[in-house]
Amino acid sequence: MAKINILDNQTIDKIAAGEVVERPASVVKELVENAIDAGASAVTVEIKEGGTTLIRVTDNGGGIEKSQVENAFLRHATSKISSADDLTSLVSLGFRGEALASIAAVAQVELITKTPEELTGIRYVIEGGVEKEREEIGAPTGTTLIVRNLFFNTPPRKKFLKMPRTEGSYVAELMEHLAMSNPEISFKFLLNGQTKFYTTGSGDLREIVYRIYGKEISGELLDFSCERDGMRITGLLGKPAINRANRSFEIFYMNGRYIRSALISKAVEEGYREYLMQHKFPFCILHFQIDTEKIDVNVHPAKLEVRIADGPAFHEAVKEAVYEALHGREMIPEVTLSDGRDENKKGEEDKAQTKERASVPEPFEERRLAENRRRETESYGNKTGFPEHKAPEQEAVLQGILLRQDKPVYGESSNTQRNAMESSQKERNEQLNLFDSRILSRETRPQFEIIGQIFETYWLIVYENKLLIVDQHAAHEKVKYERLMKQFREKNVLSQTLNPPTILNLNNREKECLAAHREDFAALGFVVEEFGGSDYAIRGVPMDLYGYGEGEFFCEVLDELADEAVSGTPESIRIRIATMACKAAVKGNMRISQAEMESLLDELLTLENPYNCPHGRPTMISMSKQEMERKFKRIV
Ligand code: ADP
Ligand code: MG
Repeated sequence: MAKINILDNQTIDKIAAGEVVERPASVVKELVENAIDAGASAVTVEIKEGGTTLIRVTDNGGGIEKSQVENAFLRHATSKISSADDLTSLVSLGFRGEALASIAAVAQVELITKTPEELTGIRYVIEGGVEKEREEIGAPTGTTLIVRNLFFNTPPRKKFLKMPRTEGSYVAELMEHLAMSNPEISFKFLLNGQTKFYTTGSGDLREIVYRIYGKEISGELLDFSCERDGMRITGLLGKPAINRANRSFEIFYMNGRYIRSALISKAVEEGYREYLMQHKFPFCILHFQIDTEKIDVNVHPAKLEVRIADGPAFHEAVKEAVYEALHGREMIPEVTLSDGRDENKKGEEDKAQTKERASVPEPFEERRLAENRRRETESYGNKTGFPEHKAPEQEAVLQGILLRQDKPVYGESSNTQRNAMESSQKERNEQLNLFDSRILSRETRPQFEIIGQIFETYWLIVYENKLLIVDQHAAHEKVKYERLMKQFREKNVLSQTLNPPTILNLNNREKECLAAHREDFAALGFVVEEFGGSDYAIRGVPMDLYGYGEGEFFCEVLDELADEAVSGTPESIRIRIATMACKAAVKGNMRISQAEMESLLDELLTLENPYNCPHGRPTMISMSKQEMERKFKRIV
């Protein structure tokens, strides 16, 4: 028998550290959360080599009292709770009191801290859980934590780290989330000596989005706020134009804490449903404020998951709120006809952007620009065989970028910066006004002038100073879909009698499925009867489907219901109805009369969401008179 050893504290810390400290990003997260908990209004984070060799977090918060410094590094030492009861009313981000102990167990840590009350501060060095140095020093109020050589004493863990670039990108993403979680705190993030982004702490979420994701994204956001069932949600919803290909831009905060939540994702996506094509996800940043008694964040040390009491009611509330926020907004994508910009204009825009960047640093963009230019010159150099040559302006731009990044931009609000911000605010307001008035509605219908059909597929329509281009299939599909959904909801689907009936032979599985979903089929407008043996007679089909391969459709639904995980859910029915609408709708390449267009448009404009077909494709796009005038160079 092997001897059972009692592990010493250092070893315990090293093992337990694995729970909290997985990679540089988890260290940064803990340290920044500590800074936030300490009431900091400005936090600077700097990392080198993805955070593997250096992480430095500096804050201007309350600091740690001299007498408490050693305690801070003890496991389960925290100033934030004193008993389990406090867990139910948790407001701070940290509470387990294990971050500093864990980090110090697996890295070389240096702490410099001073409280506002004390005259001098403390410098404290601890490596692998062993105190190395402690001295009194002069320091500004606040705390700096430096973490060097993460996992220096646990080589196996170090091997699990990815390339510094990848680790760095995790930290960058984390920093973005943290910055957006606290718009009133000024954040600065440096990677290998370069400023990646900084925020001013103005409290304006849009401004932060602008600084992190750039103009194109920040210009496509709708303000969102709602209050219900003791819950408050605020934030920004991306318009369908900036839908993403994955969920990483569904950004949620629960009482200030960044979380991932399948429940919230699902609810939000359902709210967006009509605006999302398959495999597309919304861009949104939502802050949830919920009674702390209704949630449980103490699920996992990384604290990314939360449990929410009364999930179904919560799901409904969120879905509804998002749905309502998106409806009644103007959602017609604007086009500029040519997809790419013409070269002249592009040049001008670039210049304009460069000018703008000079006053509002946008480091991500800047570097992308610089990187592109570098690649361009390099590849040309290679192709032509000429030595690499940089035009003087390019050089100036590149230098300017470098200079600007070195400039201490943090927290300062020079006039130029303010001006640039005010003008972007103005732009934003103009945009919002546009989106507040709804163009497509019953009231505005009389002002729509149908010019005609082109390419047997699209209709040209003029409304005030806009040219709308409608996709007849998408529009018709939408109208049919809404009509069917309404009939389905009201259990009022019109059925068309088939005479003679269509006879189908079903296998056992299909028979079972039909028996299980009899009501659903009836509600969809199918009249089905047993016809002896395995034969079934379809005597009635949904009116709107009549003549569009109804027997085939029936079998399709049956098949899907028979082997689908979604079978029997309202969602499966909705998908069926969407398919049905799609089949029954006029296709492209079909000439239709003016009268048909008029009546279809009539119906389209009564819909709550006339903008997208049930699969999320737009029903129409628009081009403004102004845009046309710009194209023809009547205005510049
Ligand atoms: P927790 O945050 O769960 O309390 P930590 O190990 O992260 O545990 O921190 C331990 C204690 O150290 C905190 O409770 C706090 O009192 C103190 N502390 C840590 N970081 C800071 C900081 N940046 N500013 C002030 N106090 C800090
Ligand atoms: Mg903490």
